[in-house]
Amino acid sequence: MSFEFYKPANIDEASKLLKNSGYVAIVGGTDTIVKIKANFYKALKALVDLNGLFSKEIKVEGDKCIIGSACVMNYIAEHPVIKENFPVLAQAALSVAAVQIRNTATIGGNVGNSSPVGDTIPALYSLEAEVNIVSDEGKRVVPINEFITGVGRNVLKPGEMIESFAIPMRKTKGSFQKLGERKALSISKINLGLSYWNDGKPHYRIALGAVAITVLRVPKAEELLENSPLPLTDEVIQQAATYAVETAKPITDIRSTKEYRKQMAGVLLKRALNAIRE
Ligand SMILES: Cc1cc2nc3c(=O)[nH]c(=O)nc-3n(C[C@H](O)[C@H](O)[C@H](O)COP(=O)(O)OP(=O)(O)OC[C@H]3O[C@@H](n4cnc5c(N)ncnc54)[C@H](O)[C@@H]3O)c2cc1C
Repeated sequence: MSFEFYKPANIDEASKLLKNSGYVAIVGGTDTIVKIKANFYKALKALVDLNGLFSKEIKVEGDKCIIGSACVMNYIAEHPVIKENFPVLAQAALSVAAVQIRNTATIGGNVGNSSPVGDTIPALYSLEAEVNIVSDEGKRVVPINEFITGVGRNVLKPGEMIESFAIPMRKTKGSFQKLGERKALSISKINLGLSYWNDGKPHYRIALGAVAITVLRVPKAEELLENSPLPLTDEVIQQAATYAVETAKPITDIRSTKEYRKQMAGVLLKRALNAIRE
């Protein structure tokens, strides 16, 4: 297989290139290279290298935390603003692959790949993140829960790229839970992001990954928890876990069976709630 390789100097140039069919963006390459080797792209004409175009930094701007799409997993996992305010995202980033890959794998690539098992995605759902999208035609903002439309599919139009992610700036407690084949270097069979904050009233956001074509929230469990006094009782946690099992609509694939994934949705929610229990 042969294809061109472009290194655009700016966003305008990159955007114009990406409007051509068969042109694919690449940053860390940890998904794209694997897919090329597996012959996933039937009509690949060119790789468009976005390195250098998007920020690798995390900063607080007003009431938002802005995470550049080129931030790599290790940087996110170690960043004090993320560790302090968004522990679910720090834990999710740290759970990706192994240290070498985490130095290359970007959050933009994880979300851009739009896999149902991407580990940062349920974390971003639970934090109510927005995706800042840019192209040569301008910018737009899409809530993370509207960004992914199917397995490997998202709302990006030809020429559009992920510039950054914006998370409402507030102090949350959180837990990321993942079941894989083994502890390291393992793609999730199922994963879960939980965030909790209290601004006079408690808020819980629960996001399950790998139990449907994209991440699912568990609104019945969120509502139950928000209306339950603290500390949560074992009975309340068990009921929330039952709602998670009912919500999960997994499939059987090479990584796991649908029955196992469904039961594990409840187990992971219990683990997450116990991890943040007051
Ligand atoms: C051995 C191994 C283990 C892994 N383990 C895990 C794991 O445990 N958990 C997990 O979630 N993932 C895992 N991955 C997958 C991968 O590392 C992540 O999805 C990674 O975050 C992708 O980032 P990247 O920069 O390498 O993306 P790339 O491969 O460069 O790009 C991925 C996709 O996103 C698109 N893209 C990238 N950046 C942008 C942008 N700014 N705008 C628009 N589109 C963009 C690309 O076009 C491509 O379709 C693993 C991969 C390998 C090889």
